Amino acid sequence: MMARSTMDFGIDLGTTNSAIAVLDGTEARIVKNAFGHDTTPSAVYADRAGRIHVGERARERVESDPANAAAEFKLRMGLRDQLTSFVNSGLSLGPEELSAHVLRALKANVTRQLGEEVRAAVITVPAAFELNQTDATRRAAEAAGLELSPLLQEPTAAALAYSFQRDEDNIYRLVFDLGGGTFDASVVHIRDGEFDIVNHRGDNFLGGKLIDWAIVEQLLIPALLRQYTLPGFGRGEPAWAQAIAKLKAAAENAKIELSSADSALIDISDPPLCADSRGAPVEFVHELHSADVDALTEPFVARAVNICQAALRESQLTPDRIDRVLLVGGPTLTPYLRRRLHEGLGIELDVSQDPMTVVARGAAIFAGTQRLPAEPVRPGVSYTVDLEYKPIGSDPEPMVGGVVRGPAGRALDGFTVEFVNAGARPPWRSGKVVLPAAGTFITTLRAEPERRNVYEIVLEGPTGAREKVQPTELTYTVGVVAPAATLTHSIGVTLAGNEVSWLLAKGTRIPEKAREILRSTVRLTRGESGGLLRIPIVEGEHARANRNRQVGALEILADQVTRDIPKNSEIEVEIQIDASRLVTTRAYVPVLDEEFEAFHDLTTERAPEPAELRRALQAEQQRLDGLQTDARRTADPAALAILDELDDERVVDQLENDVAATEHGDTDAAGTAGRRLLDLQARLDAVEQALEWPSLVEWANRVLHDAPGLIDEYGEPRDRRRYELLAADVRRALESRDAEHLRTLVDQLAAYLATVVDRRTGAVVMARFSQLTGMRDELTDQAAAARLIAKGRRAVDGNDIEALRSVNRELIELLPRGDGPDGGEDVSGVYKPQR
Ligand code: ADP
Ligand code: MG
Repeated sequence: MMARSTMDFGIDLGTTNSAIAVLDGTEARIVKNAFGHDTTPSAVYADRAGRIHVGERARERVESDPANAAAEFKLRMGLRDQLTSFVNSGLSLGPEELSAHVLRALKANVTRQLGEEVRAAVITVPAAFELNQTDATRRAAEAAGLELSPLLQEPTAAALAYSFQRDEDNIYRLVFDLGGGTFDASVVHIRDGEFDIVNHRGDNFLGGKLIDWAIVEQLLIPALLRQYTLPGFGRGEPAWAQAIAKLKAAAENAKIELSSADSALIDISDPPLCADSRGAPVEFVHELHSADVDALTEPFVARAVNICQAALRESQLTPDRIDRVLLVGGPTLTPYLRRRLHEGLGIELDVSQDPMTVVARGAAIFAGTQRLPAEPVRPGVSYTVDLEYKPIGSDPEPMVGGVVRGPAGRALDGFTVEFVNAGARPPWRSGKVVLPAAGTFITTLRAEPERRNVYEIVLEGPTGAREKVQPTELTYTVGVVAPAATLTHSIGVTLAGNEVSWLLAKGTRIPEKAREILRSTVRLTRGESGGLLRIPIVEGEHARANRNRQVGALEILADQVTRDIPKNSEIEVEIQIDASRLVTTRAYVPVLDEEFEAFHDLTTERAPEPAELRRALQAEQQRLDGLQTDARRTADPAALAILDELDDERVVDQLENDVAATEHGDTDAAGTAGRRLLDLQARLDAVEQALEWPSLVEWANRVLHDAPGLIDEYGEPRDRRRYELLAADVRRALESRDAEHLRTLVDQLAAYLATVVDRRTGAVVMARFSQLTGMRDELTDQAAAARLIAKGRRAVDGNDIEALRSVNRELIELLPRGDGPDGGEDVSGVYKPQR
């Protein structure tokens, strides 16, 4: 076989199933596994001798021998302390190592089928993957012996496979990828043969697996318990783990059957499911109807549709601007889902590709654009050529340049180089290009569309004698060019007051860096024990810092500095992300003329503890109840719309299930619950803001109304000018309907007025109140805080300083104690100076 000049292999490393494809001409072909299947379950089994088995057999073991098998470990990629123990062998493997075993199995399929060793391959990751997760994927590839493994986002790969070799221009598509455990909605724009991911939204914890669990928990277990008495039977209960796993596998098989039938029979009677408490066999036979499963699927589809709509809204695209929805992932084979999706989005679906393998095939197409580094020079070859060209492009007449090198000191004048495409009809030759002494050349190729063009490289000496040259050929394909890598989440610095300054926006092409000048909120005294200045870095989209994922923090320690850093010192923060998504934060401190640096250890994310989750869930449930009552009372349409969405998706019920499973020791569920909780919190924040808007507007107008009088009475001419600037900002914020921003500005204005008044009256009470309202996110009891703030505003309005003083006292009581349960850690030591 000819040595490859491009990577050509693409791998879909899926949560549930993985696949490998190879680019063969212009066609990406799946390389089947030993069972003749296109996809290989991402499951690992370790036998007594510690031998590792991957795929179908391992998948069966997940059901029959859960103590020695693992699956769905992709959900734990990048999380710390997530070792899976394999009891019989005593092995203990993390998600990265397990993924490496899957990759090795896929490589072995190629060796078996094609007799070729895969040394480089493109690997796909969900677009929703965060930095720690992509980083872990890269390490898994290294461990599997892949010398090169560019990562490609799954929707990009899918869009490539759907779009390759088609004439389409200036259109938008929506990639709808619902897999076993992750969901991605990506808006893709195709223009001039190139395409870009315009926007993406995802949920790393939405997929077919959740439908399987819903079938088990809501249909099968209740049916089973109607027939048998099985004490404590449930998910996460060690005594019943085997039986539960069997039910889940049966649920999944039946669900798949239902995508082409109206009913499916689950029969677990021979051997029986398990034994009851008296040791009698439990036989379980149950007929599953598609209507029942459709009903269980509904909340997941609703959530997926909402995410798609949000992605479109964010990109300011209406559904009629979207040409088609590209379906990806096993669950999109479900007829109900397709119907519901078509209705819900009002966009035509593209069902032309096999959704189970489209990602691997797209990855292979992309791999065809990735050149491999030159092979070591073979014996007997004295000439090499360094080529400059793109292996895939939209241009049918691409340029190719290069340098021919000979034995040391050999001048190349009089040599010729020629490119010959013998496979073209008719065969095509570039004509001989005469080389100068330095061996450099540039020429144009002609490519046939719809196929991979292979050009033999012919080198001749001055006498016309053919010389051996390496490489011997280059390939070029006319096709869609894949986009550059972009950030899938914004990255920013947490500021004091739970705010974020976003330095790198979602969608930014990487590598990239950005800097911003901040100031310190505390004094850092040299050598002071425990003293530090903390600059936390977050990844996400939420305005409140603690609703985003913590990437890490740069800490300047008191014993690192040569001098004190006074409070309010400038700190120039720079965040840099390289092409492989590694993040570095630097802080330059002018007063020291020193720079500090932190590389973020992206693997430090820890799954939350069950008790922590339970507490947080209860708090959110209470908040939800309160907000529901308020929303019904005020009939605020924005708030009601969000609450309806939460209801349709049954978000709280699902969280309840996840948290319950976590309490029973299910570690996957902990990750799920943690993310879902953040999502619920952010959405309730939005409801809160919507509900707060009218009262906020009232408060803003009152301050604007009273201010001129106060300034006339107490102020000086310069106060008037300053007031007018601030008031203009407030009016702009009123127009833009940005509650968070408006609150900050009105608080600022009120604080300013308070200082003006204070100069004459000596009252600091108003200023203190404004300062406290500015800290409201940090107050421990949000409901009480809201009540007090409202009371305080009435007091301000009525000029009741005594009442305001008592409000302040009560608000101070709500300030978190320095080292409370989740205080301390995320607190930022920097703020953004005002203009
Ligand atoms: P992943 O990308 O997470 O590896 P896949 O795209 O391989 O996921 O999809 C796996 C999921 O698809 C599983 O939950 C499986 O049950 C489901 N699935 C596979 N085939 C079908 C089908 N015909 N109908 C419905 N669901 C299916
Ligand atoms: Mg997938």
